[in-house]
Amino acid sequence: MRPPPATSPATSPAKPPGNQAAKPLTGPQKALRKLGLVRPIDLVLHLPLRYEDETRLVKLRDVREGDVAQVEGRVVHAEVKLGGHRQLLVTLDDGSGTCLLRFFSFYPSQQKALAVGNLIRVQGEVRGGFVGLTMMHPVVKPAGAELATALTPVYPTVAGLPQSYLRRTVQGGLARADLPDTVPAQYLQEIGLHPSWQLRQALLFLHNPTPDVSLDTLQDHSHPAWQRLKAEELLAQQLSQLQSRRSRARLRAPALNGAGADSLFERLLAALPFQLTAAQQRVVAEIRHDIARAVPMHRLLQGDVGAGKTVVAALAAAQCMDAGWQCALMAPTEILATQHFAKLVAWLQPLGVTVAWLTGSQKTKERRDMLALIASGQAALVVGTHALIQDKVQFHNLALAIIDEQHRFGVAQRLALRDKLGRQELEPHLLMMTATPIPRTLAMSYYADLDVSTIDELPPGRTPIVTKVVNDARRDEVIARISDQLVQGRQIYWVCPLIEESEALDLRNATATHAQLSAALPGVLVGLLHSRMPPLEKKAVMRLFVGGQMGVLVSTTVIEVGVDVPNASLMVIEHAERFGLSQLHQLRGRVGRGAAASACVLLYATGDAPRLGEAARERLKAMVQTSDGFEIARRDLEIRGPGEFMGARQSGDAMLRFADVTEDARLLDWARRLAPVLLDQYPALAEQHVLRWLGGKTDYLNA
Ligand code: ADP
Ligand code: MG
Repeated sequence: MRPPPATSPATSPAKPPGNQAAKPLTGPQKALRKLGLVRPIDLVLHLPLRYEDETRLVKLRDVREGDVAQVEGRVVHAEVKLGGHRQLLVTLDDGSGTCLLRFFSFYPSQQKALAVGNLIRVQGEVRGGFVGLTMMHPVVKPAGAELATALTPVYPTVAGLPQSYLRRTVQGGLARADLPDTVPAQYLQEIGLHPSWQLRQALLFLHNPTPDVSLDTLQDHSHPAWQRLKAEELLAQQLSQLQSRRSRARLRAPALNGAGADSLFERLLAALPFQLTAAQQRVVAEIRHDIARAVPMHRLLQGDVGAGKTVVAALAAAQCMDAGWQCALMAPTEILATQHFAKLVAWLQPLGVTVAWLTGSQKTKERRDMLALIASGQAALVVGTHALIQDKVQFHNLALAIIDEQHRFGVAQRLALRDKLGRQELEPHLLMMTATPIPRTLAMSYYADLDVSTIDELPPGRTPIVTKVVNDARRDEVIARISDQLVQGRQIYWVCPLIEESEALDLRNATATHAQLSAALPGVLVGLLHSRMPPLEKKAVMRLFVGGQMGVLVSTTVIEVGVDVPNASLMVIEHAERFGLSQLHQLRGRVGRGAAASACVLLYATGDAPRLGEAARERLKAMVQTSDGFEIARRDLEIRGPGEFMGARQSGDAMLRFADVTEDARLLDWARRLAPVLLDQYPALAEQHVLRWLGGKTDYLNA
C-alpha cells in the first residue's frame, strides 16, 4: 500500500471562542452535541461508515441494481402523475440506456430543472423493477458540474443532522484539530505501518480517500489508515489502564495481615463443612497476599456458577476483621443479598461476628439499628444491596469492599463503595466477583488494570448436568418428567422467557405457566416469582423453595444470579431461544449443586417461522455441547461480538469504537507492549495521547 499524500488542508488559526453562550443552538448543533461531537478531535474521530463515489460518471448500461451511481443524461420525458400519490416522473436517457426518476415531493423550481430537454446529473441508489432502472429522489445537479476529487464519506448520524452539514463540520474539525503525532515512528514499523501514516495523514485519508483506493480495504478496516486508528485507540486504552494501575500503586490502604492460629480466618476454615478446592486455596492465597499489603487491592475473582466464590469472599472478610477493620459485601439483588447474608451469618455468627444487613425494603427501625451498628464498628461485616452506598451509611472503618456480580453495577456505584472509607488518606481494598468469565482477549484489553484470580474447578461431588433441547410442542413430556423428579423428592426451577419490550408480557407468560403447572401437578406447591413482586413476598416464596416445601418454582429471570438450592435437580427454561448464551449458562448453574443427577431442559418455540434463527440455534447447540463457563464465554463472544458482550455488563463504560480485540489481537499485543515504554520514555506524549482519545473520561474501568 502506498503511503498517503503528504498534503494537508490549510490550517486556519483557531477562532476565538466569542460570546457563544448568548446564541441558542441550532437543530444540527444540538444533534452534534447529542453525538458527543464537540471538540475538533471528536469531529475528526467521527469516522465514515462508508463512502459514495461521486468522482466519476457511469453509463446506465453498466449500472446494476443496488449500485449508488452518478449519471449524466438528457431528460426525455417528464410528467406529474396525479391520483394516489402525486409524483413527478422523469425519464433520463444517457445514450446507453434510460432510467426512471421518481419524486414524491418537489418544488416548482425542481420541476423546472427537470424539464424535457435539460441535461442533468443525478446521483442515487439504482433499483430494478419492471419499469426498468429507477432512482427515488436522486440528488440532481446540472450536467457538467465539477466532479468530486475524493470519495464522499457517509457518516453515522441522527435525525436532524444532514450528511452535508456533518461533512462540512468534520472538514472544519480536520482543519482546526491539532494533531501532532504521539507515537514515535519507529514503533509504527513494528506493526507494518509506513512512518508516513501519521495520525493526521490517516485521518485526512479516511475522511477524503482518493478515488483509486480499494473500497474493500476501507470497508473491512484493513487499510493502513484504519490500522493506524485502531492501533491508536488500543494504545490509549492500554495507557490509561496502566496509568490507573500505577497511580493506584501510589495510594495507601490498610494492611490487613497478621492472622494467628486462633484468628477468625483459621477458625472459619476449620468450621467449614467442606475442604477448599485447590483452586479456592490458590485464589484465597492471592487475595490474602494482596490485602496484607498497604496498597489497595483491585482484583477480579472469576469463577463459574457454583465454583464457590462466596466462601472465598468470607475468608477474605475474616482476614479483614482479624486486622480490626470492617468489610462490606454488596450484591445486585435483594434475593442474592439475602442468600449471602444467611450464609455468612451461619458461618460467622457462631464465631462471634456481628453481621449487619442493609436493603432498600427494610423497615425504618431495623434500618436505623443497622446503621448504628455499622457506624459504631460493632458490625464488622455488612451485607446488602445498593442500600450500602447511600449517603446515610457511615462505616466505622471500612477496609475491604466485596462486590458480587460486579458487572451488574455501574461504575458510579462501584466508586461510591470505594469512597465509603471514612479516612481520606486510605483507600479500601476492592474485590469484585463475577460468574461470567471474561475471555482472554477482553481481559487483556478492558481489564488490563485489574488483577484476576480464577477458580477453574468446581467443588467435588457435582454430577454433570445433562442438557436437552426440546420443542415446546413436547411440553407435556417435560411436565411428566417433573412429576418423576418430584416423586424422588427433588425440586424444579421453571424459568419463563425474557421479553425485553414488555414486562407485562413476561408476567403473563409466567402466570400462565404457573397456572398450567399447578393444574397438572395436584398436591404440589408451585410457586411464582417475578420482579414486580414486593420484596417481602419474594422473600416468602424463596423461603419456601429453599426450605424444600415448595416443589416447583416458576419465575421470570429474577433467579438468574446466586440462588443456591442444592436439592433442585431440574431446570426448565421456556423460550430458551430468546435468552443470551451467558444467561442460559447462569440459569443452568442453579442446578447440579448437589450430588443428584441434574438436567436442564431448553424448551424452544419457533413461532411462525419454520425453524429457529441461526444465532439462536448456535446458542442452544453450545449449551448442549459444553458446560464449561470459559468455553461458553468464548462462544458467546464469537456469536455476539465484543461490543455486545461487553455492552451488557459494562454499560456506560469505555468501549472501543474502532478496534476489535479479537480481530485486532496483533495490534492489542503491540499496544500492551508499547504502553509501558511510552509511559516511561515519552511521558509527555503518553499524556497527550490519552487526553486526545479519552478526554476526561479516564476513570471508567478504574472503579
Ligand atoms: P458461586 O461461585 O456461584 O457464588 P457459591 O459460593 O454459591 O458459588 O457455592 C456453591 C455451593 O458450593 C454452595 O452451596 C457452597 O457452600 C458450596 N461449596 C463451595 N465450596 C465448596 C467446596 N470446596 N466443597 C464443597 N462445596 C463447596
Ligand atoms: Mg455467587
